[in-house]
This record gives sequence, C-alpha cells and structure tokens, in this order.
Amino acid sequence: MSRERSGKLFEEAQRILPGGVDSPVRAFKAVGGNPPFIARGEGSRLYDEDGNSYMDYVCSWGPMILGHADPTVIAAVTDAATRGTSFGAPTELETTLAKLVTRAIPSIELIRFVNSGTEATMSALRLARAFTGRDRIIKFAGGYHGHSDGLLTRAGSGLATLGIPDSPGVPAAYAATTLVVPYNDPAAVEATFEQHRGEIAAVIIEPVAANMGVVPAAPGVLEGLRDLTSREGALLIFDEVISGFRVAHGGAQELLGIVPDLTCLGKIIGGGLPVGAYGGRREIMEMMAPLGPVYQAGTLSGNPLAMTAGIETLRRLGEPGVYEQLEEKSAALAAGVNAAAEAAGVAIHLSRVASLMTAFFTADPVTDFETASRSDTAAFAGFHGRLLAGGVYWPPSQFEAAFVSLAHGDEDIRFTIEAVGSALATS
Ligand code: PMP
Repeated sequence: MSRERSGKLFEEAQRILPGGVDSPVRAFKAVGGNPPFIARGEGSRLYDEDGNSYMDYVCSWGPMILGHADPTVIAAVTDAATRGTSFGAPTELETTLAKLVTRAIPSIELIRFVNSGTEATMSALRLARAFTGRDRIIKFAGGYHGHSDGLLTRAGSGLATLGIPDSPGVPAAYAATTLVVPYNDPAAVEATFEQHRGEIAAVIIEPVAANMGVVPAAPGVLEGLRDLTSREGALLIFDEVISGFRVAHGGAQELLGIVPDLTCLGKIIGGGLPVGAYGGRREIMEMMAPLGPVYQAGTLSGNPLAMTAGIETLRRLGEPGVYEQLEEKSAALAAGVNAAAEAAGVAIHLSRVASLMTAFFTADPVTDFETASRSDTAAFAGFHGRLLAGGVYWPPSQFEAAFVSLAHGDEDIRFTIEAVGSALATS
C-alpha cells in the first residue's frame, strides 16, 4: 500500500500547520509513521489521497454512528444549505433538535447548543460554579473533557498519549481549582469532599470513560457519586460527549440508571458537523443568559446545517432495533479480536461498553488511568501500523476508544477480525 501522496501532503501541511494537523492525535505521534490524508468517506470506509481504502473505527472520534456520507443526512444538509448557512437568529431547527435530545435524555429539561464538546463542559462548569457559589471542581485522572484551561489537568486522550501532565499556558491558580482523583476510587472522592467541605461546585465525570481507552465505572461508583454530591450540595455533571446516543439512546445515564444534574453532549448530536450542548435541571439552566446572569454565547451556535445533520442522525437512532444492531456488531468484533489475540498468543485486555472498545495491550485488568498506563504502547504501535497496512483504520493511540457504526456490516466485521489476526500474528 503506497501512501506517497499522503506523505507529500503531510510534509506540506507541516510547513503551515503546527505538526501538520488541527488536532494533535491526527499526527500519529503515538504510533509513528505518517497519517493517511483522507479524500472521502462512505459508509464504514475511508479512502485516502492515494486511493487506499480503510475500514474505519475512528468514525471521526464518535460522531459518525450512521457511517460516512449517510445519504439521508447528506441530502438534508445539502437542502438546508440552499436556504442559507448561518443567520445568527433563532430557527425552528434548534427547537426540533432540542426536543429530540430531551425526549431521549429526560434529565435535560432545558438545553443550550454550542459548537463543541469543549464549549459544553466549559460552560457547564461556569454554570455549576454560579449555581452553587463555589469555585472548586473534581475531575478524574484520565478523564478528558475538552481543552478549556481548568480541565487540562491529568486529562487523558492526546495528553495521556503525549505524556503531558498539564499544559503550559494554564495559570497555576486557576488549575488549582480543579481537584483530580483516580477513576473508580469512591474513597478518594469522599476524602476530597471532606478536605474541601463547602467548596466543591461540581464533580464532572465521563460515566463511561473513553479517553484513557474505554474504562467502565465499577458497579456502585456512580450511585455513590450521585448520593455524595447531593448530600454535599455539589452538582453531578455527566460528560456524555462520547457516551450520549452511543452506549444507549439515552446515553450512559439511561444505561446505568443514574440521573445527573447537568449533562454535556457533542459528537453524535451534530451528525458530523460541529455541535456541542449542555443542559439539565430547569432551575439550574434558568441561570443562563438571557434568563439569568451567567453569560455564554456563540456566533455559530445552533447553526442550521449542524442542527439539520443532528436532527437526521437522531431520527435514525430513534428507530427500533438500532442499538440492538450496534450491540450485535460490537459483540461480534470484540469476540473476534479476543479470539485472534488468543490464537496469536498476545495478551490483551479488551474493554468494551456497547459500541465503544479498546484493546489494551496488557494482561491485567484496566480500571483506571494508572492501570491503563501499564499497557505496552510500543506493541500497540506495531499492531496499529500493521493493521493500517492491512486496511483497517484503528484509533492511532492506545488510550482512545474504537467506534463501531451502523454502517459496519457483517462482512466488514469479518474482514476486520481477519486483519487483526494477521496484525497480531506478526507481533
Ligand atoms: N468530553 C469528552 C468526553 C470528549 O471525548 C471530548 C472530545 N473527544 C470532549 C469533551 C471535547 O469535545 P470537542 O473535541 O468537541 O471539543
């Protein structure tokens, strides 16, 4: 497989974009080699500038749950574009998408659309601080909630990969308002609340962690957090930017039966266009301007093309049997990967929640950022390169989730398992 043209494009990009990319993980630094430059996507496949095709398990890091260039979404967005691409004024589309989201996730009584997951979490925390009159927040090591200043402390995802504990440029005094505790460690959260009684505005958590690789919350942990935050007068914020409309129609909160105070969304609700959202209990959300004093705004927020892509995507996800199909495909892939690893004599820990999965290159269980970090990243990098050469585009970092879409057919899954077997056999 030649990737000559991609290589040339990457060189050219590096002369004008830092690292040749607009988001660090795309540069393939964690796995080595050059990234394919993508020319187009269709269904379960990506096609690069050299004409190679790949079975895609990145799915734009989650949004493309229907697959690439879904004909219904594309037709709706194309049609919407002929009526104008941005107005900076209210449209019916925003209410339509809001209804689709709140019907699926009833804990969201009022919702505000923004342009990214980063904006959603940043704004939800501002609101939580305003509502409680407190400054500190708790996040979990390896949890990624976007790149706003206060959340770049022990974040997972690209940062875990790059080994940057904190980003320079974040004022120390501000970062100090973020308290970081290990995932799946309720005693640590209790101790932190005790130490900072009356100071903690909110706990923000990925209820299914997906940015240290996929790590489910252990049984009882989220229930405990719900009780503790209620008792302490702090808000519980679920960051469902990945898990929303992914692990179940109603997100992790439906799957696990826990009701947060605020929820952050992104990715799937924009159907592949830039969207984020945050919402929750009415009395909290009513603090947002123009109803209340907490300011947050956006020139392109509620953008008609993005709303349209989200509406079409959520309508499809509301059809019966969709999540059962996703589960079937994902279970088949996970079973195949496990069997291939066993046949190849390679120790992996396959962690899966619904259509999210990570093959950790470690024999030990993974329950938090520390245990995830024990994975053999060099072995993963070799595996990734061979898999790419075999025509499968797996996330280019050990600490990311692979995403299965509705466009992945049985034949696609079989092809992938075979390619995984070959990539593991030569490790
Ligand atoms: N929260 C979570 C859980 C995420 O996975 C991400 C991005 N992967 C974000 C927030 C930030 O979203 P965005 O990249 O759209 O700013």
